[in-house]
Amino acid sequence: MIIQSGEIIGIIGGGQLARMMCFEAHKLGYKTCIFSNTSDSPAFYVTDAKIMGDYSDISLIDQFIDMVSVVTFEFENLPYKTLEYIEKRTLMRPSSKALYISQDRVREKDFINQLGIKTTNYQEIKTLHDLKDTAATYDYNALLKTVQLGYDGKGQFSINKNCDIETIYNQALQSKVPLILEKKVNFIKELSVISARDKDGNIACYNAVENIHQDGILRKTIAPAHISDDIEQKAQTIAKELIAGLDYIGVLSIEFFLDENKNLLVNEFAPRPHNSGHFSIDACYHNQFEQSIRTTIGLPVMPTNQHSKAEMINLIGNDILKAEELSKKPFVKLHNYDKKEIKTNRKMGHYTTIFP
Ligand code: AMP
Repeated sequence: MIIQSGEIIGIIGGGQLARMMCFEAHKLGYKTCIFSNTSDSPAFYVTDAKIMGDYSDISLIDQFIDMVSVVTFEFENLPYKTLEYIEKRTLMRPSSKALYISQDRVREKDFINQLGIKTTNYQEIKTLHDLKDTAATYDYNALLKTVQLGYDGKGQFSINKNCDIETIYNQALQSKVPLILEKKVNFIKELSVISARDKDGNIACYNAVENIHQDGILRKTIAPAHISDDIEQKAQTIAKELIAGLDYIGVLSIEFFLDENKNLLVNEFAPRPHNSGHFSIDACYHNQFEQSIRTTIGLPVMPTNQHSKAEMINLIGNDILKAEELSKKPFVKLHNYDKKEIKTNRKMGHYTTIFP
């Protein structure tokens, strides 16, 4: 089924990803309705219609469903029940399956390994005894993470030989969600691949890109990554296996570690466009948000070629104060998310330098 131009695409979540989806929807002649629980939502300023309130409020969800022809989402930490409810009543792309899997790190890693794709070693942690045992197995070189609601390095605790495991366990327990211990990967690079799959099963993958994080937050993306053709091919093959394995319609983002032995290990995936794919807006013929809208409304995926090499830098917190200066530089494409309040670690914008 193809949604006709002029119809309304419903987007759950109102952050910068939703904002960029709106821009692409409008270019293709569609209208948008944003459903967000936050009044200062960057997407609210660029949408045709909006609903503000709790994501679990049934009367708001019903109102949203009545307004739109198809639903998509920009964020995976949404109540699964809401998406399950919406999916029973209207067309939703991607489906709730990938969201359900990606909401839980254990479920996600189990699923990836079942497809024959490698991750780092991991173990669900239910007791202090589990943690002590598994930490010893991983030679006290591990990360304790919350199974749910962790992103941008939130809910992570480093385990090493000198730490007090009991204190860390008690700190982690305060999050009141289950825990996972992951063996720390001594990676040489962090990579990601953004891929898109349409309703007919065609898959398009962008070049693998190289990501540099600080404090668990993405700071810089180099596109394409400086890797061998062999690693590039392997990353693309894994991306294709994963997106097909999920029977997925939409844009899927996959983060990898390239370890010392040149093994590619999947860290996690996100059922949506990703900030490591922002380079595609300015450096590719068809960007990740266009692919997201196209696959949601039932159009085929488009080529992912880059016309220019690029580097993307996230503007975090006070970095946004450099926006005016950056906007005067040629071949620097500034994206200001128009967030009203600057907060530490808040992604306020980004810029991409293109090398034509
Ligand atoms: P995550 O919340 O899983 O995306 O992790 C955020 C960042 O923490 C990653 O991009 C890595 O830089 C680092 N990290 C997460 N898990 C591991 C791991 N198992 N080994 C080494 N570094 C990790």
